[in-house]
Amino acid sequence: MSGIGEMDGMGGIKMETTGIRENICQVNGRIRKACAVSGRKESDVTLIAVSKTKPLSMLQEAYACGCRHFGENKVQELVEKYDQMPKDVKWHMIGHLQRNKVKYIVDKVCLIHSVDSLRLAEEISKEAGKKGVTAHILVEVNIAAEETKFGTAWEEAVQLVKSIAALPSVRIKGLMTIAPYVENPEKNREYFADLYDLSVDIMRENIDNINMDVLSMGMTGDYEVAIEEGATYVRVGTGIFGERHYGAV
Ligand SMILES: *Cc1c(COP(=O)(O)O)cnc(C)c1O
Repeated sequence: MSGIGEMDGMGGIKMETTGIRENICQVNGRIRKACAVSGRKESDVTLIAVSKTKPLSMLQEAYACGCRHFGENKVQELVEKYDQMPKDVKWHMIGHLQRNKVKYIVDKVCLIHSVDSLRLAEEISKEAGKKGVTAHILVEVNIAAEETKFGTAWEEAVQLVKSIAALPSVRIKGLMTIAPYVENPEKNREYFADLYDLSVDIMRENIDNINMDVLSMGMTGDYEVAIEEGATYVRVGTGIFGERHYGAV
């Protein structure tokens, strides 16, 4: 690139910056609309900016636009960003969590969305106990029974919730699901409705020490439909930060 290209370098940063602001405004506008059409309160829905693979500068920009909830799916990346971002950020662990890594994040995250086994919950309880905290978690449900996905089977969810509820240092706050990738978000409506129904069924069991206040469902392609079906947390990555590029870092 020529000298003009170098000037574009500066402009490029500015454009990217503006892009995040515009994207967040647009996502918030759509959240507002989805709440309006489904008779829900805007304050009942929280946007999680899913910042996995994205550089700190982009998180800082989203923070400057008012985002306080960030979602990551890798322990090391979460810890690094945790150390560098302001302390009032609420971190969400949304990815598959290995038991041997629980100790690194258990006192850093506000919510672990991806608990799908008693063994993992036991480890979380143990490490939380050591640090003198109570870990807030969601049970991840593979609501569409996709073979490639983590998450407990729908039929096993109630039993898993009951078992986890007996652990001393974890609190179940609700359910999470990752819906199938679809072109048409309407195709996921039934899955979101199923997760909502499951949360109602679990509430009816009157299990001590748990609640079902949180439904974490909906991503860039389908968060409006998820809100219409009861989502309280939506996890939006691409819609805020743009496409992700995986590969050598
Ligand atoms: C990456 C990721 C998201 C965000 O996906 P987008 O389609 O980019 O919005 C949401 N939830 C989980 C669990 C993810 O891993």
